[in-house]
Amino acid sequence: MQKVLLARPRGFCAGVEMAIKALEWSVRIFEPPVYCYHEIVHNHHVVKHFEARGVIFVDNIDDIPAGSPLVLSAHGAAPSVVDSARDRAGSLVNAVCPLVTKVHRELKVRANKGYDIIYVGHRGHEEAVGTMAVAPDSVHLVETEEDLLSISQSGSPVALLAQTTLSHDEWAGIVSKARERFPELWMPSRGDLCFATTNRQAALKTITSRSDAILVIGSANSSNTRALEKVALTSGCPYVKRINSASELPSNLDGVIGVTAGASAPDQVVQEVLDALAPRDGIEEIAVTTEDEYFPPPPDLRELIRSLALLVAVSVAAPVADMNAFRDDRALSASAVLGELRTSEQP
Ligand code: SF4
Repeated sequence: MQKVLLARPRGFCAGVEMAIKALEWSVRIFEPPVYCYHEIVHNHHVVKHFEARGVIFVDNIDDIPAGSPLVLSAHGAAPSVVDSARDRAGSLVNAVCPLVTKVHRELKVRANKGYDIIYVGHRGHEEAVGTMAVAPDSVHLVETEEDLLSISQSGSPVALLAQTTLSHDEWAGIVSKARERFPELWMPSRGDLCFATTNRQAALKTITSRSDAILVIGSANSSNTRALEKVALTSGCPYVKRINSASELPSNLDGVIGVTAGASAPDQVVQEVLDALAPRDGIEEIAVTTEDEYFPPPPDLRELIRSLALLVAVSVAAPVADMNAFRDDRALSASAVLGELRTSEQP
């Protein structure tokens, strides 16, 4: 193999960083098991890492024993799920990404104003399920441009919202068709696709025309990873492959290989892929922007840590070892808290 073109940004986004660290702090604070509603982020290696640390992932709040510590995933949950989680959990940390919460808020506001809401997303994806549940009677799920035709004109104003991790090209097509069908359409000024989705797709687009093959690192159930795959495929690149880890690298790669990674794919996996590729002429990193977004720990977790700190301050007990680490949350990366992942395990 001749050379690797490495897209930047790639891999962990601010929302994934926050969610992984929130689960890690919860594991350090509570006696096991800590429960997590849905995969904390959609990455096999991250989920396996936490399972090995005693986290139990559930898809139903009723599956957790009452009084247990519980973390809700980065994808967000239906309001009814959050309510049952508050009732059932001994302690609840909602690690939803603030950019998903923003869409929940937009949907609630528009529904209360009497809008018919077109939500563009993937049927069954946790983020879409949680978001639509905010106002189920006002929402129509749309996955393709054709789906728009089935939405009748009721006379109510119409709003267009979206899952945060869609492919930009697909989204642009739907926006344009929706505007034709509903000329008075309301949508948020900057749209709902998040900065991480936008930046990773833009970076990938800069390397596709120079690459003989594109590798997208990430899990099959990661929406933004699949969107990267679509971007690469529609760019006309002759060969596109999504892989979970270096062990899935095709043996016949040659020439210039473009590499990117979804927002939940760990740096360690990217590095292992690069090491395995070992390109003759080295690695050229192509950056479109630098991301410095930071999402602080969820409010429930901050409150919990404040209470623990107070307890420690008034007691003679030894300080909780992880308290200092928590104070340095911004300085500590999710990759650092994850440590060495066992990436040889296959999904
Ligand atoms: S991809 Fe975007 S919406 Fe999803 S966790 Fe990352 S920043 Fe948040």
